[in-house]
Formats: sequence, structure tokens, C-alpha cells
Amino acid sequence: MDPRLYDFSPDELVSNPSADCTRPFTASLPDPDVHVLTSGGLRIPAYSSVLASASPVLENAIDRPRKLRRRSERVVPILGVPCGAVSAFIGFIYSSRCHEEQLEKYSIHLLALSHVYLVPQLKHRCTKSLGRRLTEENVVDVLQLARLCDAPDLYLTCMKLVYANFNSVEKTEAWKFLQDHDPWLELQILQFIDEAEMRKKNIKRHKEELSLYQQLSEAMDCLQHVFSEGCTIVGPLDMNPPRREACSNFVTCQGVQLLIKHFTKCDKRANNDNGGCPRCKRMWQLLRLHSLICDQADCCRVPLCRQFKLKSHQEKRKKDETRWKLLVKKVRSAQVMSSLSHPKRKRADRSIATD
Ligand SMILES: [Zn+2]
Ligand SMILES: [Zn+2]
Ligand SMILES: [Zn+2]
Repeated sequence: MDPRLYDFSPDELVSNPSADCTRPFTASLPDPDVHVLTSGGLRIPAYSSVLASASPVLENAIDRPRKLRRRSERVVPILGVPCGAVSAFIGFIYSSRCHEEQLEKYSIHLLALSHVYLVPQLKHRCTKSLGRRLTEENVVDVLQLARLCDAPDLYLTCMKLVYANFNSVEKTEAWKFLQDHDPWLELQILQFIDEAEMRKKNIKRHKEELSLYQQLSEAMDCLQHVFSEGCTIVGPLDMNPPRREACSNFVTCQGVQLLIKHFTKCDKRANNDNGGCPRCKRMWQLLRLHSLICDQADCCRVPLCRQFKLKSHQEKRKKDETRWKLLVKKVRSAQVMSSLSHPKRKRADRSIATD
């Protein structure tokens, strides 16, 4: 195509219809062979070959009247949208460009035109532009348009905005109109909000679970450390007095030590294993978890480790065992994650151990 064609500006023709339509073209080019007719009665001159190469729908529209009419009368009507939008549309077909002001003013119409006439590049630009200009006031209208024009990215952007600002959106006129005239879309929106809430809850629960396994994994490390090296208030049975320095993971370690202290002195614990006291029950569970994770069969210094191992071999409480196995698996993976993300802390612990 002659590069001079890119200078063609149908906008100029629309704003000044009396202008010489052929002015941008040199004498070497043939006259435009088709007119695009707008709702306002404007006739925008154009080349059928350019329109046809940009849009298969326009190609059909141009071919159709050729059978019925003489060549000089070829007219392609693009009706139902403002003249300026048609002008910007034809301008894009010629130049592959669209001014920001045109997008700001006509992006809704241009999206519809680009969808109907199958001009994907323009459709892409319009969806981006509309996505940037979404407000609580216009989002419902744009959402409906996105659905009609099969623009899934824009549809999703609208849905997310409705979800994030539903209290404001449901007060708009557009929402009230939608409720009266498009209950299916209203249902889809409410369903999206429900699913988004569900996703949010699942993510929150998943994070909480991860944090719990992380805490258990740290507690396991602390148990090993307290009963093999000793820390501030609790140490191995044969080490007296315990070490006085705070270790690198002291927040968790102190909690574990206080729990151990309590466990050794609690009266309720003696009543029936762990039933009477929630803190003792927690300690009991930590010790059991340790025994399931521990792979130091004979040399482990954590109390009750061997007893628990023997007990779990003897007992065949399948259901209970499966639950503990799952817990062990999750705590182990938290330990791996932790050792990957805190290699320095591991080294620091080791250096304390060898002091
Ligand atoms: Zn410690
Ligand atoms: Zn207790
Ligand atoms: Zn052990």
C-alpha cells in the first residue's frame, strides 16, 4: 500500500464535510471507490480494497451491492453509532492508529464496531482502554457490552471491579436497570462474587494451615534442641544447669520450654494421660509428633520418643494413624521449606550447638 495513504484522516472529513475529500491523495491515486454512510448522513470516501483487507465483514458488504448497483454508487452503511465513532473506525483501518481522545470518547462504540466488523487489533485496544476507564458508575454497562462483544478479559476486569466495590455498584442506576432487564447477568455476577469469596476464604485457610505446620516444624526443631543441647530453662536430663544463652529461634523455643516445664509439674496430667489439661495435651501431641518424625531410633534424647514408637507399632488404630501420617507429611514439608528459606538460621543453630 502507498505509505501516503496513512495520512488519510476521515476525522478531518467529518469535521469539515465541505473539504475536498480527495485532498490527501495525489493525482497518481485513483478516486475512492466506495462511501461509508453514517447515521448522521455523512459519506466518508474510502478505498474498497483497504476496507476489505481489514475486515471480512466489510468485504462482504462491499461485494454485495456490486451485483445490484453501478460501481460509482457503492455505499457501505455503518449505522447506529455516532459519526465520530465511524470516522475513528475507518481511520484505524487506514492507519492502525487511534487517538487517545477518540478512544476516550468512543471506546464503547469502537468496541462494538471492531467486534461486529471483525477487526481484532482495534478490539484489543478498545478493551484495554475501557478496562483503564472503568468506574463504579459505568462498570455494569461495560460488563454487558463485554459479554455481548465476546471480550473475556474486559468481562473479567469488570467482574473484579463489581466484586471489589459491590456496595457502591448496587446503588447505581445501571445496576437497578440490570436487575429489571437482565436477571441472568445479575445471577452470573452474584455467582462470581460467591466464588470469589470462597476463593478468598480458601486462600486464607490455606495460609493459616501453612503457618500452623510451620509452627509445628519449628516446635519439632526446638524439642530436639532443648533435649540435646539445652536452652535457657530446660535442658537434657544429664545436663545441669541448662544453657543460659537465648537461641536463634527463642520465641518458639521459650514457648516449648514453658510447655515442658508445665508438663513436668502439672497435677491434672497425672489423672488420665493428658485428658485433664489442654496444655499437657498439647505437649503430649508434640511429643507424639516428634516420635513419628524422629529417625534416631536409639540415640534420641527427647522423652517418650521410644515409648511412642513402640506404642504406635502395637496399636493399629487405622483412622487415627492416617491422620497423624498426613500431619507428619505436612510438617516434614514445612521443615524442608523452612530449611530452604532459612539456611543461615540452621548454620547459626549448629554453631551454638558446637560452642
Ligand atoms: Zn532454644
Ligand atoms: Zn497440664
Ligand atoms: Zn526422637
